Amino acid sequence: QTWHIGLTGGIGSGKSTVAELFQQHGAFLIDADAISRATTAAGGAAITPIRETFGERFIQPDGALDRNAMRELVFAQPDAKRQLEAIVHPLVLQQIRASAAQAVQQGARMVLYDIPLLAESAHWRKRLQQVIVVDCDTDTQIARVMRRNQLTREAVEGIIASQATRQQRHAIADAVVQNGATTTLEGLRAQVEALARHFHLIIGCKGNA
Ligand code: ATP
Repeated sequence: QTWHIGLTGGIGSGKSTVAELFQQHGAFLIDADAISRATTAAGGAAITPIRETFGERFIQPDGALDRNAMRELVFAQPDAKRQLEAIVHPLVLQQIRASAAQAVQQGARMVLYDIPLLAESAHWRKRLQQVIVVDCDTDTQIARVMRRNQLTREAVEGIIASQATRQQRHAIADAVVQNGATTTLEGLRAQVEALARHFHLIIGCKGNA
């Protein structure tokens, strides 16, 4: 049996860090952002349809999507954003499904889905056995993202305001990992270990935990 587990949390809450720790306990990670970037990298499946839809000037000489040119276009034209999403989203979905099938075939007990908008998506929630929420207070989120991405406080606050709220995430959580100001990496590791053991016990497999 394979458990399909969703991972969600606001920007800078620590999802990637938690995902990495889960991988150390045998979880197979599906990182939708990485898949999305790969589709628009040189040779990616989205490049040909993007070239056909938007033109050569959105493709860099190395064959990858010109992100700056595309960002300007979708900012100015909401229709272009929808067209781009109509190309990229089905390809990402297809790859997520293929990766999940591969994980199951390889005998993975836990498949962890790090997917943006998971908290907002009924589609995903009904396909997942568990949803883990990484919880973090807003001040800590802001401090982490300002440091990591060299952004202003206002920019980070804007991103947080556009995302699901802490309350909305808690409403869909089966398990919560606390990663606020006072959580050390060791503390985080201990929480993930406890959860991984718990999951392995329920799944009926000792796994790598
Ligand atoms: P995003 O939503 O942008 O993908 P994320 O939720 O995946 O972010 P991470 O990238 O895991 O968040 O963490 C954000 C930053 O905070 C990283 O630089 C990470 O190293 C750091 N960080 C995460 N958890 C802790 C912690 N408990 N203590 C100190 N630093 C942390």
